[in-house]
Amino acid sequence: EALRELLLGRIVDVPDYPKPGVVFKDITPLLADPEAFTALTEAFAALCERHRVDKIVGLEARGFILAAPVAVRAGIGFVPVRKAGKLPGATLRQAYDLEYGTAEIEIHAEALGRGERVLVIDDVLATGGTAEASLQLIRRAGAEVAGVAVLMELGFLDGRARLADALGGAPLDAL
Ligand code: 5GP
Repeated sequence: EALRELLLGRIVDVPDYPKPGVVFKDITPLLADPEAFTALTEAFAALCERHRVDKIVGLEARGFILAAPVAVRAGIGFVPVRKAGKLPGATLRQAYDLEYGTAEIEIHAEALGRGERVLVIDDVLATGGTAEASLQLIRRAGAEVAGVAVLMELGFLDGRARLADALGGAPLDAL
């Protein structure tokens, strides 16, 4: 509907980035448009209410930009999941597979309360590897998965199927 058209109209395809054959979805035009960025923020905030979310986890780096205003709008806390080695306190670390090799992400071990309902926010769901690892961190931290919410899902990469186990029935919303 209208929101979907507004958002899609502010996402630009960049061919052959970051390498030949890949079409990158550039969200910077959306961030630069206050109408679209506000509408996106409010749509995410509405999901927080619908899913009774206690805390928002944003994924480095574009997930930070999208999730932080949602946390303020919804009146709940924001917790960063970062690439390994960036967080100063005691952390939990999770490895996941990339197309070539592996990557590691971390969360502060004490950042989430036991049983807290946590929503993961990111810009793009591609293979689902990053989101899957973040859900594993949330469970290892003793919190509950309230869902994953992204601006855009690249359906042809089947990230939704890869996430199914880690979601454990929790919703995946792509705006
Ligand atoms: P995945 O782990 O699902 O394969 O990749 C998702 C992560 O890579 C997200 O954190 C997302 O920011 C980034 N990503 C992958 N493809 C794109 C893309 O086309 N556009 C943007 N903006 N981010 C992407």
